[in-house]
Amino acid sequence: MKDTFGRKITYLRLSVTDRCNLRCRYCMPEEGVCLRPHGEILTEEEMVSAVEAAASLGVTKLRITGGEPLVKRNILSICRQCAQVEGIGEVCVTTNGLLLPRMGKELRQAGVKRVNISIDTLDGEKYRQITRVGELAQALEGIQAALELGFEKVKLNVVLIGGFNDDEIPALTELTRKWPVDVRFIELMPMTQGFPPEAFLPCTAVLERLPELESVPGQGGTARLYKLPGALGNVGLISPVSDHFCGSCDRLRLTADGKIKPCLHSEEEFSIKGLDREGMAARFREAILAKPQCHAPLSYAQPSHAGRDMNQIGG
Ligand code: SAM
Ligand code: SF4
Repeated sequence: MKDTFGRKITYLRLSVTDRCNLRCRYCMPEEGVCLRPHGEILTEEEMVSAVEAAASLGVTKLRITGGEPLVKRNILSICRQCAQVEGIGEVCVTTNGLLLPRMGKELRQAGVKRVNISIDTLDGEKYRQITRVGELAQALEGIQAALELGFEKVKLNVVLIGGFNDDEIPALTELTRKWPVDVRFIELMPMTQGFPPEAFLPCTAVLERLPELESVPGQGGTARLYKLPGALGNVGLISPVSDHFCGSCDRLRLTADGKIKPCLHSEEEFSIKGLDREGMAARFREAILAKPQCHAPLSYAQPSHAGRDMNQIGG
């Protein structure tokens, strides 16, 4: 289905939980999330019905995210059922990777074709600092597991943070020479967590640092693609702040508590909790028609109007 600006909506990001085994500083508060009454979170059946409803309107690609999707008790069953929904051609997962050595094989068997793994630094101390609690070695083991398990595509997501990991741009892009992975730099989005103004770097900093990057023509979704000479994978630049991609936005988000968000950076939400599949499809239709042309400008001085931390939306 198309929205009122002619954009075809084909992509759903489903956040299955707002809980996480890390506490990344740009994403969620140190104390984690408040325990919600069980009845507020979508059941497994509701999540699958929602995916069916979205598919009936033309959604073909599903990304399962969170919080950390792999800490969700019934994640394998959710993935398996979603992968079988008619019309859904591709189920992908975004994860911090820590549980991939333990669960990657079953995730692959459940029909997940691609994984995006978040890793912002290759320095153990800095990894602990940004995630507050994480061990870098575990994240690296997760990447290794994903590569060995034969996922069709493995992408590494790096949130670019001035004064934190901009000095690691060469080392992080070098991973595309070592492994068949894409490394994607994502501009830090001003959500509810506080960062100083100098933390907000445009992705062009990557091009300035690495003039040898060659532009790769063609489609990279929201990412502009480049490549290091001789590399196995691409370098992607995702610029939601300096160069938003609203004009080609093809996505909807569904939160674990059952709210469709037509736009990541808007407070507007449509609840599907407790509805049957037809009711959900009607709500998805309303949400698509309510998709704004563009969100308000984002900057240090003008934070997102999302009204939630990122772990409650799914990124
Ligand atoms: N836990 C999983 C993970 O970390 O990949 C999935 C959920 S996480 C919210 C999804 C993506 O959002 C991650 O790549 C994370 O780095 C990104 N993200 C979270 N907060 C962000 C922010 N303020 N700005 C830019 N990206 C952010
Ligand atoms: Fe957890 Fe992912 Fe948010 Fe980090 S970015 S706190 S791993 S949900």
